[in-house]
Amino acid sequence: MVQEGCLPRAKKRFGQNFLVQPRIVERIVAAIRPVSGDVLVEIGPGPGALTRALLRVLPQLTVVELDRDMIAGLRGLATPEQLRVIQADALTVDFAALAGAGDALRVVGNLPYNVATPLIFHILEQATRVQDMHFMLQKEVVDRIVAAPGSRSYGRLSVMVQAYCAVESLFTVAPGNFFPVPKVDSAFMRLQPHRPVRLQAPLRAPFARIVATSFAQRRKTLANNLRGILSVDALHDLRIDPGCRAETLDQAAFFRLAEALVERGAEHDPRRLD
Ligand code: SAM
Repeated sequence: MVQEGCLPRAKKRFGQNFLVQPRIVERIVAAIRPVSGDVLVEIGPGPGALTRALLRVLPQLTVVELDRDMIAGLRGLATPEQLRVIQADALTVDFAALAGAGDALRVVGNLPYNVATPLIFHILEQATRVQDMHFMLQKEVVDRIVAAPGSRSYGRLSVMVQAYCAVESLFTVAPGNFFPVPKVDSAFMRLQPHRPVRLQAPLRAPFARIVATSFAQRRKTLANNLRGILSVDALHDLRIDPGCRAETLDQAAFFRLAEALVERGAEHDPRRLD
């Protein structure tokens, strides 16, 4: 266990909860299985618990850290050839550019809870360049991402992320493994973009719209949520029960709905989506 006195003062506004348990760091590295030659980027390295462990295996690593006060410490961990330190908001980083000429970028991070979801969507926009992502997140968020149709956690986040990636919750991490101790459990997860890509670029906007609209009011039936966009007859044609709720529909059904939206030209008519 790393003593708190050895850590920089944690800043709440940057979502800083540092990993202090070496056993968890080892477990994370074992799950990532980094090998020499990997193009790997760590988001939010902070004081570098995971960074140090990754540098023991990788001859080169890139890290993206928002907090300026962490930068000098990170630069002291290795030579600039071994460790490229980018001081930036990961939400603004062009991950495709970091992938270089290849399409096998690996992204890892113990993510700040406040930016985790937007960051995952930011990286998913460039999913074709990404081999995999391994993230520590609030357990409740991981549960929602990996949820299956019909479960309480299944919703917009599950459908959207699973359209881009195979998802897997790997293990739960108790609050006592971090400092400061967070209020909630965390979980470590893997996301692997589908190859070939399932959600092709032209279908992305209609898919996002149909998913958002279908879940707009969870207690309403699908037909009610989609009123004005797709008729009851259209739902029957798609072999989807208009009386069901969005939380019972699987990925394939949402793809059929998005394709129907495109065929009917509804995605170009803003009045039909309001
Ligand atoms: N990786 C370290 C560990 O496990 O001990 C720190 C994890 S801490 C939960 C989150 C880290 O992300 C902090 O170092 C924080 O400064 C950084 N961070 C917060 N927002 C960020 C952003 N938008 N872009 C990049 N890094 C960010």
